[in-house]
Amino acid sequence: MRAIVIHQSGGPEVLTLQDRPLPAPAAGEAQLRLRYAGLNYVDVYQRQGGRQAPNLPTVLGKEGVGTVTALGEGVTGLEVGMRVAFGTAAGGAYAESVNLPAKMLAPVPDGVSDEQAAAVMLQGMTAHYLAYSAFPLAAGDLAVVHAAAGGVGGLLVQLARRTGATVLATAGSERKLELARELGAQLTAGYDDFAALAKEHGGANVIYDGVGKTTFAAGLNALKIRGLMCLYGAASGPVEPVDPQLLNSSGGLYLTRPSLVHYTQTESELRWRAGELFDLIRSHDLQVRVDRVFPLEETQEAHRYIEGRNTLGKVLIEM
Ligand code: NDP
Repeated sequence: MRAIVIHQSGGPEVLTLQDRPLPAPAAGEAQLRLRYAGLNYVDVYQRQGGRQAPNLPTVLGKEGVGTVTALGEGVTGLEVGMRVAFGTAAGGAYAESVNLPAKMLAPVPDGVSDEQAAAVMLQGMTAHYLAYSAFPLAAGDLAVVHAAAGGVGGLLVQLARRTGATVLATAGSERKLELARELGAQLTAGYDDFAALAKEHGGANVIYDGVGKTTFAAGLNALKIRGLMCLYGAASGPVEPVDPQLLNSSGGLYLTRPSLVHYTQTESELRWRAGELFDLIRSHDLQVRVDRVFPLEETQEAHRYIEGRNTLGKVLIEM
């Protein structure tokens, strides 16, 4: 099978197309013929190396959709020919086929396209746990959503609005702020202005921050007393170490640094989050915006595209 393999950390040029053997699925695994892989910012961190570096050589890609072609021993609830999607794989999605633990697969219902399923599993389940579990939003809350035209951001704006919360969206360009408004954000601001705007509205109950280094400090200033800083990513770089006393002097704040894995702890939790997203797609209550689709052999270009901050929605790789 063809796959994109990396043998060393580095720029997009380390992503190389190769033929790889495909072993039979082990006990508890399903083998999938993939149609699309979803690109995520975490793939960039993993390619670059550093704290999230995988063991090399490896095939990147945590998210995708495909058809079950074989089942390992002991797998129940799945059948050959079923359409399934995943968003919490350790890697392996930039390939024509992959073997994955059956418990991380969600059957895709009719009414959800392959593109939508591949686009929503990682970023959508992340938006779901952020809005409904890490800080369960309620009507009247003010939520700041950074990078609101991005993958997680665009979905989070929509889920947050469904709770009745007010969404203050930030993004890096006027075109992206316009998209955030189209998705439902009532307030928008640049990264330099959002804290002042949040304060004008009484302060934020929660900041959803996947940008990190360049937004974290201003975010602490934008929260109301006992607000939550939900730091879930570092697209601009990691945040410097924080003195806990700062949370006191800024208003008895809370700080959390969650990952999707903490909120998909069981098969039933994962399928609940995926199932709710699929239901919202089927009822046209969640807009899944696919921005670009690159063929597998152009994966380097796809990485350049997301690193260049060009994305207005999801980027997919087609096998
Ligand atoms: P996005 O599509 O949101 O892309 C990242 C965006 O970050 C860019 O488009 C850009 O938007 C913004 N950004 C701000 N500053 C920078 C910078 N210096 N360099 C690059 N981008 C910058 O990606 P994802 O939706 O895949 O991921 C968003 C964040 O969420 C990432 O940090 C990711 O690691 C994290 N994440 C965390 C998860 C978790 O469970 N903890 C799970 C999934 C993702 P703009 O131009 O508008 O500023």
